[in-house]
Amino acid sequence: MYIKTFGCQMNERDSEIIEQLLAQEGYVPTAEPEGADVILINTCSIREKAEQKVFSLLGALRAEKANNPSLLLGVTGCVAQQEGEQIRDRMPHVDLIVGTQQIYRLPEMLERLRQRVTSKEIATNMETSFVIPPFQKLLADAPLSPAPLGFKRFVTIMQGCDNFCSYCVVPGTRGREISRPVADILEEVEILVNQGVREITLLGQNVNSYGTTNQVAAVQVTFPHLLRRVASIKGLRRLRFTTSHPKDLSEDLMRCFAEIEILCPHFHLPVQSGSNAVLQRMNRKYTVESYLEKVTALRAHRPDIALATDIIVGFPGETEADFQATMDLLNRVRFHSSFSFKYSDRPHTRSAGFDDKVAEEEKSRRLSVFQNRQDHICFERNSEYIGKEVDVMVESVNNGELKGRTPSNHIVHCAGADAHLLPGEIVPVQIDQAGKHSLKGIICAKH
Ligand code: SF4
Repeated sequence: MYIKTFGCQMNERDSEIIEQLLAQEGYVPTAEPEGADVILINTCSIREKAEQKVFSLLGALRAEKANNPSLLLGVTGCVAQQEGEQIRDRMPHVDLIVGTQQIYRLPEMLERLRQRVTSKEIATNMETSFVIPPFQKLLADAPLSPAPLGFKRFVTIMQGCDNFCSYCVVPGTRGREISRPVADILEEVEILVNQGVREITLLGQNVNSYGTTNQVAAVQVTFPHLLRRVASIKGLRRLRFTTSHPKDLSEDLMRCFAEIEILCPHFHLPVQSGSNAVLQRMNRKYTVESYLEKVTALRAHRPDIALATDIIVGFPGETEADFQATMDLLNRVRFHSSFSFKYSDRPHTRSAGFDDKVAEEEKSRRLSVFQNRQDHICFERNSEYIGKEVDVMVESVNNGELKGRTPSNHIVHCAGADAHLLPGEIVPVQIDQAGKHSLKGIICAKH
């Protein structure tokens, strides 16, 4: 089985679920498509021109399929959800088209194809209840059988989104917002921690509105309450979450950063633009002023919190003054890191129909101005850690070079590490160098 993932975190998580599901059926992952019995392309259409990439990859795999007629070729994820009919019509050699909420049906669909009960399987309907990752149940039933899980994992706590930002495909590709029952989340985290996982990231498109919209009966708690419940699970060393919407950042959630010891002081809070006019056209439902107020309050609760954000430059109608407002915001907040992108039309979104598009060269110029300034700020922010002792969770040790992460999510490299250190262990490190994207340090002698 070969899986090619186009990426966002939700999508990577889906790929993990698919691998787990199919591993239970005896499928073994391969690093290359050649020789695989099943090739799955798990697609994402949030940022890039993913549809074109998917179609060109499918075109390239036509020869592979012709050479090996028993090969099963499938497309899953956002592009399958949105463009299922187009894939069926343009790519008849594709056997399987599976939308975002139907991946749990993959084993039975593959089995029907293998047994030649059917020659094509298509499932793109949306569910009205939470799609429980079945691997969790499988793990509970057979705790010793799965491959090692590693030391950190994502746990999905909600699906879909109700915010309808004008540029975004998610409400169309992943459906309306549905919160997962608390008991299921706690059960999955407990299972993972018992299997050796030390860090959990709670995952959803808009985690901080957890429990407030389209509730299933069992969900009667807010996100801060859920965080406290998860944090109380014995053996868990670090807790993170992503992604959050600024309008849903409550005072109670800010308090969690002061109160919950294992909640890492790192917060990804996408602002997208520093211009109220652009935010309104994006349908973001907050203002720059309210965003800044929340940043100030958050830092009052947790002064060492590292803030990350997302920025879109060149949104339709964005003027030079709007862009300068984004630069002003960057200079005021001084984000520890950011993910910045040029605006591009996504299929079936409102903004794709806006007629005042910004020229491509101008978008590139603005992106470069933004990223240069952000790089400079990253370096200054990272330099603030020099001389400090931080706890680093080990990710790998190769030839004595340790790579790990701080609670603030900074990557740290240390030379001279003990080869016996295992991923997931935490070591104290004295930071002595800073770069734009990482830190260097010395493992403290007391360890
Ligand atoms: S909050 Fe907006 S950008 Fe984020 S997933 Fe929902 S619609 Fe998309």
